[in-house]
Amino acid sequence: MADSVLFLFDASSEGRVLMTPGDPPKPLTIGDQPGYEDVVSLSGRVLRGDGASDVWARLAPGASIPEGLVALERRVLADLLGGDLFTRSGIAYQMMNLTVKNRFCGVCGAAMRDHRRERARECPACRAMAYPTLSPAIIVAVERDGMLLMGHNVNFPAGRYSVLAGFVEPGETLEQAVEREVYEESGIRINNIRYFESQPWPFPSSMMVGFRADWESGDPQPDGEEIADVRWVTPDNLPDLPPSVSISRRLINDWLRRRGSVAS
Ligand SMILES: [Zn+2]
Repeated sequence: MADSVLFLFDASSEGRVLMTPGDPPKPLTIGDQPGYEDVVSLSGRVLRGDGASDVWARLAPGASIPEGLVALERRVLADLLGGDLFTRSGIAYQMMNLTVKNRFCGVCGAAMRDHRRERARECPACRAMAYPTLSPAIIVAVERDGMLLMGHNVNFPAGRYSVLAGFVEPGETLEQAVEREVYEESGIRINNIRYFESQPWPFPSSMMVGFRADWESGDPQPDGEEIADVRWVTPDNLPDLPPSVSISRRLINDWLRRRGSVAS
């Protein structure tokens, strides 16, 4: 059974995790907690699938990072410490956000508490429940004659391209969201939409659902707002790609493997 980790988050909206510096950095454990009590504003338990639990805690707004610790972006944890710790840090972050937003019941105003068996908050007075937010989003690899459709989002680092993605809107099926996002971001019509795989992406609360699809008509035209450039890419002219932990990279690697190439 994996050790119980204390996920101590800084007060940023991204929720960076504080750890002991090193190569690799070392997660804090439950036993480390008393030393940080004076800088922590909230904390709670995170139920794990194996019957044990982790703990999350949040630095009080304005408190500085305790001496001897470093703040790490959660998305680098998979490469540094493995996929299991990356996943657990995301669950801890989402439980923290759930607690911050549900300290008091929205129905009757009583103080809420963690549910004993579920990853949820409950009201002891009126039994109202609150669950973590999950926002479904689609991501899709569109192919045409061995080429892959990739876009440069205005928020990406310079030179970075990825397959297209976007949030599902109320009333939409996942397939309709795939068609709409591709058309909005590239002007391209697609067909033959099929499921690939999914990935929880807790930045802050996405559930990425991956698809593959085929080009039907149109030439790439960026929307000019969210997407600054969109183009067909071949295995021998790859741009800078998303990190390996992401489903976008797995969609790209899957396409490369089927083209007989391997991502560098
Ligand atoms: Zn209540």
